[in-house]
Amino acid sequence: MIFSTSNRAYNLGPKTSSNRAPIHYAYPRKTGTMNLDLGACSRARLARDARFDGKFFIGVLTTKIYCRPICRSRTSKESNVRYFASAAAAAEAGFRPCLRCRPECSPGTPAWAGTQNTVSRALRLISEKGLEGGSVEALAEHLGVGSRHLRRLFLRHLGATPSAVAQTRRMHFAKRLIDETTLPMTQIAFTAGFGSVRRFNAAIRNVYHRTPSQIRSLAQKMSRQPEDQYHFHLNFRPPYDWERTLEFLAIQATPGVEVAESGYFRRSISVSGNRGYFEVSLDARRNALNVRVQISDPRSLFSMIERIRAMFDLDADWPTIARTLGADPDLAAHISSHPGLRVPGCWNGFELVTRAILGQQIGTEKANALAGRMVRAFGQPFCPANGLTHLFPTPEVLANTDLESIGLLRPQADAIRALARAVRAGQISFEKVVDSDAILMRLSEIPGTGESTAQWVAIRNLREPDAFPSADRNLARALAQGSSSKFEQRSLAWRPWRAYAAIYLWTFAGEIRVHRNVSVPCARKKAPPGKTAFHSRIPVAGRWAS
Ligand SMILES: [Zn+2]
Repeated sequence: MIFSTSNRAYNLGPKTSSNRAPIHYAYPRKTGTMNLDLGACSRARLARDARFDGKFFIGVLTTKIYCRPICRSRTSKESNVRYFASAAAAAEAGFRPCLRCRPECSPGTPAWAGTQNTVSRALRLISEKGLEGGSVEALAEHLGVGSRHLRRLFLRHLGATPSAVAQTRRMHFAKRLIDETTLPMTQIAFTAGFGSVRRFNAAIRNVYHRTPSQIRSLAQKMSRQPEDQYHFHLNFRPPYDWERTLEFLAIQATPGVEVAESGYFRRSISVSGNRGYFEVSLDARRNALNVRVQISDPRSLFSMIERIRAMFDLDADWPTIARTLGADPDLAAHISSHPGLRVPGCWNGFELVTRAILGQQIGTEKANALAGRMVRAFGQPFCPANGLTHLFPTPEVLANTDLESIGLLRPQADAIRALARAVRAGQISFEKVVDSDAILMRLSEIPGTGESTAQWVAIRNLREPDAFPSADRNLARALAQGSSSKFEQRSLAWRPWRAYAAIYLWTFAGEIRVHRNVSVPCARKKAPPGKTAFHSRIPVAGRWAS
């Protein structure tokens, strides 16, 4: 565990800051109580251990530059380095980002103690939309806490204020656009949310001591990219079981909208009315996913990249998860033989629930065929790349459409229409979710979507690492558990990483050897609300035929 409870480690870095930022990149220093385990940081730094990438940053006093643990630059003496829990904290203490290891490319802060944690939820909101209007007060209000309390929590856990974190993210994104795309600087200024080119230039010069054009000329020369195409490397902390993530997505890929084959995942998207697609593949050598995005308006790139990061679970902290799940005798063998399984997310919550409803009571193949028919009948034709032919139908279209005409049974058709109407009316929104219990409750009111569906939505759409579908009979069967309450009780041993346990159970169902007499902890929390209805197979669209 990198974060310890000792108090001695917090250090604010050098007294001489090179930062006099007009854009508040540097903040008045404030003593936080954020703590890092110095010994663990030091060992990870000396070993250049990629598993710690993004979990902390290293400020070098002699150069006033901050680095990732994996930086290939010469290793500094221990007395010359300071450790920070976030890039924003290093920036606040007056360090500049290293141009060699590029802190902007590090994997994100791992979720800890679940997303119910206020800081995790705030980080999620910031990464989805940034600090809209720049107001910490608005963010705090959205989260239902006071802004002073939110600031205190951020300082304690990340060593930086919410606005510093948001600002650093924006700065990092701008840097990536400079390095990795051929977008004109004026467009980058607006895409990264700087408001004006003058402010963008000043901010970059202040932080990097170079102009945007100088930075671009330092970047590796790129082959000319086709217009509207952007290429990113999104780093993760290894291990990452890409093969099984892809397999998971392939089994329920919606024909015409998603393709998962030959090491690639591809899908069509529509963001704020702009149509496009993205394609993801593994770059094992760089511990990264290669992402190619095509979209006509680059202004949505920031949120798109964050959504892709979430969908492929790039911030997961495997050693921490493995420590909990590996201690369970029923899961241990698979945790060690197949390390790095992630929770495959989804691009769009509406689509996920619609697919879940379609998959009820029928096998995978039939469910996929039905989804394909639905896409061809009601989706917008769009053929941007290999295998993609349509956009998934929108709630507006599905709300009042004759779904029975393509072979849906009446209850299924009614359920999809009810869902589409609720989304259209804003009663269910899959974006900017703060209170997941509320959305799960609303979902379970849609006929045909029960507790199990809601929990899979929490896992795959809301990214709750501790959600668990104990009402999913197929999962329960994998561990020979009878009732859902017994299964819920059994799952408590995996907290706060029950979503990962669910993915392991799903993936290795049938291969798991159940050990008798596994001791389980007492119930600490009662199950989330939601009535139990019949079971849908949301992650699998019917991998287990009824
Ligand atoms: Zn570096």
